[in-house]
Amino acid sequence: MTIRNRIALQFSLIVASILIVFSILIYFVSATYRREEFYDRLKNKARTTVRFLIEVKEVDRELLKIIDRNTLTALIDEKVLIFDARNRLIYSSVDDQVIHYQTALLDEVRQQKDVETFSGSNELIGLLYQQNGQDLVVLASAYDKFGKSKLDNLRLTLGWGLLAGLSITIGLGIFFAGQSLRPISQINQQVSTITARNLQQRLDEGNRQDEIARLAMNFNDVLQRLQQAFEQQRSFVSHASHELRTPLAALKSEIQLGLRRPLTVTEHSEILANLMVDTDRLINLTNSLLLLARTMETSHQVSFQPIRIDDVIFVAKDELTGAKPTYRVEVDYTNIPDTETETVVKGNEDLLKQVLLNLFDNACKYSSDHTAQVRISTNERHCQITIQDRGIGMSDDDVRRIFEPFYRAQNALGFEGFGIGLSISAKLIELHQGTLTVDSKLGEGSTFIISLPHV
Ligand code: ADP
Repeated sequence: MTIRNRIALQFSLIVASILIVFSILIYFVSATYRREEFYDRLKNKARTTVRFLIEVKEVDRELLKIIDRNTLTALIDEKVLIFDARNRLIYSSVDDQVIHYQTALLDEVRQQKDVETFSGSNELIGLLYQQNGQDLVVLASAYDKFGKSKLDNLRLTLGWGLLAGLSITIGLGIFFAGQSLRPISQINQQVSTITARNLQQRLDEGNRQDEIARLAMNFNDVLQRLQQAFEQQRSFVSHASHELRTPLAALKSEIQLGLRRPLTVTEHSEILANLMVDTDRLINLTNSLLLLARTMETSHQVSFQPIRIDDVIFVAKDELTGAKPTYRVEVDYTNIPDTETETVVKGNEDLLKQVLLNLFDNACKYSSDHTAQVRISTNERHCQITIQDRGIGMSDDDVRRIFEPFYRAQNALGFEGFGIGLSISAKLIELHQGTLTVDSKLGEGSTFIISLPHV
């Protein structure tokens, strides 16, 4: 069942229940009121008849019958019977019509003085009349033709009204549910036309206020992020192939050179040395690409343990200065940690070492003194590692883009590198719930700050 039909059905059921309850209530109240009113009229008639018979000397039974028969009352099929104390019928308003009653009813009237009951489809009342020591029981019965016909009319009106009300409710329910859900159908239609090829398409955000507009806005946000991810992916692939092509082209031309003519031993070893350099570059690049891919893929499988970040800093420093002896890494504490655990972070030692190696290497590589100043500082929640250099620095535009894979600033093109290290580092720090920020001035130097939550 569609949501539109479900809403219409629920709406109709609610309105139908209310209408039915109200109709039943109105009918029963009217029916009770008609009966009460009719009993009152019957009682009045009974009282008048018995008073005429007993209290007005000038009126005898025959005259009373004539009066009864000729009085214009609204009562149909009307009869009045009067009984004496021994249950003998002393007066009957109409001879040819009988009231069906039980003798027990007369006793009941004597006991209760006032009884309201039925005789077939007629209403029947019994009254006890006590005057001058006489105990008379008066029974009066009649058929409330007008009252009942009014009630029938009311029943019919309510029935048809109910039917009409229900039909209108169902119709309006379907119409309004369709109206309110129309934006969803439109969104549905628009979404079905979005594919990987036209991710720049956006949904209509309507009035930007109601729930459906908010759904469209959120969906547009998702599309925006998807589009960015797709574009990043695309540029990543094109950058990666470009980076791979350069050393491969160099390799090919070296080999072609070697094949062109017979080489001397010195030329041979020269070409082989060049081939070695280019192959090393290729290996480094593919290693970096592999690492980047792994960082994206296996980020959720990395095992985290409490580790002392200062220990990792010293290991990275030793590793870097061991491999590149011209580089200097100076480590210092900005403040003495208040507790032992302030330099302990929950993380993966290998990955954090990878980040530190990259940042130390960059700081040394991009500065003429090949020196990285590393400072460790802590506060009650975070441990910060600041890596500062007095190197080539970066423009604001470069600072905004250096975390994109393969991005290299213009002033860095003369240095070795692929522009992948920082994008890996940023992802790894994010994986450790930390932040990596940079502050740099062109020609003056750069400061990278890693902030990690400590245990
Ligand atoms: P790579 O150093 O291999 O080019 P990275 O991803 O480590 O790749 O760095 C990306 C770019 O950021 C570098 O090409 C360079 O332009 C800039 N950069 C990074 N570190 C520094 C630094 N310490 N000083 C100046 N520029 C830097």
